Amino acid sequence: MLRTKTEKEVVHALGRGDACSVRRDPNTLRRWAAAVEHDAHNALDGIWSLAVDDSYVLTVRRDGLREQVLLDDMVDEDSWPPDAWAPKHRKITLDLEAAEAVADELLEVLRLRDVSWPSCSQHDQPVSHCSAEWICSGSPVHQVALFGALQPPNTA
Ligand SMILES: [Zn+2]
Repeated sequence: MLRTKTEKEVVHALGRGDACSVRRDPNTLRRWAAAVEHDAHNALDGIWSLAVDDSYVLTVRRDGLREQVLLDDMVDEDSWPPDAWAPKHRKITLDLEAAEAVADELLEVLRLRDVSWPSCSQHDQPVSHCSAEWICSGSPVHQVALFGALQPPNTA
């Protein structure tokens, strides 16, 4: 983990900054937006769509609802443990933090619009998320589904 900075400089020198720098990759955000869109579709009424454009604008749509959120274009490295940026974890951390960013914003849009996200059927706890998983904080804390695999509430 002490080598992170050096690695970044090397990566820039090689001209592969996009793959490894701390700038978010719109394609990674789009991949997670598609997964979370699938989950919104399964978990909520109506036809949902989530899209991320190259300017980092996330657009959430359902029928009359259209909400646009400007995502940060840079990764907030400090919100992850330093070890997450060690060379062997860096790629997965970048992937998971993109997943978190998309899910955070969707849940925020739903909260502002008073749309409730499903609860865990076992514990009657609202389903939250951690990294790229939907989790229930009931006792015990457990995974409900990976992003992209959330089932409709009545079948969960
Ligand atoms: Zn539960």
